[in-house]
This record gives sequence, C-alpha cells and structure tokens, in this order.
Amino acid sequence: MDSSSTGRPATPDALTRRRLLRIAGTAGLAAAAGVACQAPAGYGKNTTTNPTAPTSATAAPAAPPPSPAPAPPLPPTTHPLLCRDAWGANPPQPGGKPNPLSRMTIHHTAVTLGDNSNAPARLRQHQQYHQGSQGWIDIAYHVSVDRDGNLYELRDPNIVGDTATSYDPTGHFLVVCEGNFDEEEVTEAQLDGAALAFAWAATRFGIPTDTLTGHRDQSGDTACPGTNLYSHVTSGDLKRRIDALLAQGPVELVSVCGPEGTQTVADIEAGIR
Ligand SMILES: [Zn+2]
Repeated sequence: MDSSSTGRPATPDALTRRRLLRIAGTAGLAAAAGVACQAPAGYGKNTTTNPTAPTSATAAPAAPPPSPAPAPPLPPTTHPLLCRDAWGANPPQPGGKPNPLSRMTIHHTAVTLGDNSNAPARLRQHQQYHQGSQGWIDIAYHVSVDRDGNLYELRDPNIVGDTATSYDPTGHFLVVCEGNFDEEEVTEAQLDGAALAFAWAATRFGIPTDTLTGHRDQSGDTACPGTNLYSHVTSGDLKRRIDALLAQGPVELVSVCGPEGTQTVADIEAGIR
C-alpha cells in the first residue's frame, strides 16, 4: 500500500500470440549442480591406515558398511521473470542501501486492477509515482505478481525497498500483488505466483519461510495487503505453498528479456495471455 497512482487503460494492440516462455529448462540446472558434489555422511572414514598403530595379521579391522549412494540433486522448479525493460520500467536512480535480506513480506498495491491486461501499465504508474512524487530511487518492491501469476522484475532485491508507512523495510524481500484485496479477490494463479517469488528468494538468499508476514504485521498504519490476501497469510496457506515448492527442490526464476519479454508483455496488455 505504498502507491496512490490511478489507472489508465492499456492499449490493446492486436498482436499474434506467441509462446515465449519455454526457455526455462536449463537455466536453473547449473545452480543445482553443486549439490551433486556433496559427499554422503561418513564418506572418507576408515579408509587410511595409521602406520604407527599396532598391526595384527589375524585381527583385520572390519570393513565399514558400504555408504549409500548420494541422492541425485532435485531438478529446479523454473518460472519466467519478465525483465524491467519488458514492462517499460525507467532506470533506477542512483543510490539506495544494501539489503541484508532476512525476511519476506507481502503487499498489495491498493489500486484496483480490474482487467489483468492493465497490470503492466499499473507498474509503470507505480514506478512514476514512487520515483516522482515519493522521490524514491525506484519502484518500492522487488517482485510483482499479476492476477494470472506473471512475475515482473522490479527493484534489485539487494537494495532496500521503500515504504510510506512506519516500518523499516531493511532486510525485507518485498513481493507485491497487483490489485486491491479489500475490494478484489486473489486468484489461485496469483497466490502461486507469489509463492514462486518467495520460494526463489528462499533459494537464492536463504531467507527462512517462517519469516513471511503481511505488511500490516510490520506497521500499524496500513491495511496492506488487504483482507482477501492477508487471510492467506494468517491461515498459513501462502507459507504452505512456498514450502511445498521448496520441498520439490530449488526454485529458479528465468529472466525473459529483449524481444521475447517485450512480446510477452504486449500479449498480456492485449489480453491474449
Ligand atoms: Zn504494503
């Protein structure tokens, strides 16, 4: 609830639908590959002979039980992340504080989304308001999720976010769901998208999922993230979704940039994806 921008209609250009997000399969594999190099517990024990120890031809030490084969690394769950350039972000202003990431917090924009095709335009409006009227270096949050579960790259998570309320966002990874959830319902796709963003933060930065809170838990002067979204925090539903993803292995976000990203956002704005 850090924005008060108002909506304007997106331009529904008629654009051919393209399926652009099939590139995810390989990008996360390198991140998981290091796991395969870990030795199983007990590996390397009892494999050398101490030359000073008494020996006996009749009392050979018992061979250690065979070590179990190490479990193969779990394949990463991958999901596209639409680049800043794809949704038409302005560059960040210089400055900002390094963010010692240790917590995760969910927000809404408190601006009614209406049709999901409005989502990219909303982001541009939020950023203009945050950089202009608020005087912040960038849009306040780190990742945005629209109603269909599309993820958008916002502020660098390694830079502390901003807020117009009374808490200090230092250390927080900030996910914002587009919409006003005192007036609109949150969809399964948007909840799953938020869970993916948080699971990525847990994978990438080691943030514990039991630190998840809603903005209103941090600051008494906001209703953010809105009743209909906050209920998924208090019920534990959102944390369960994050933990379920992480139980399947690491979560990687695959950046979709350049013409592919631009086309994907154009399709979202045209209402065809
Ligand atoms: Zn908030």
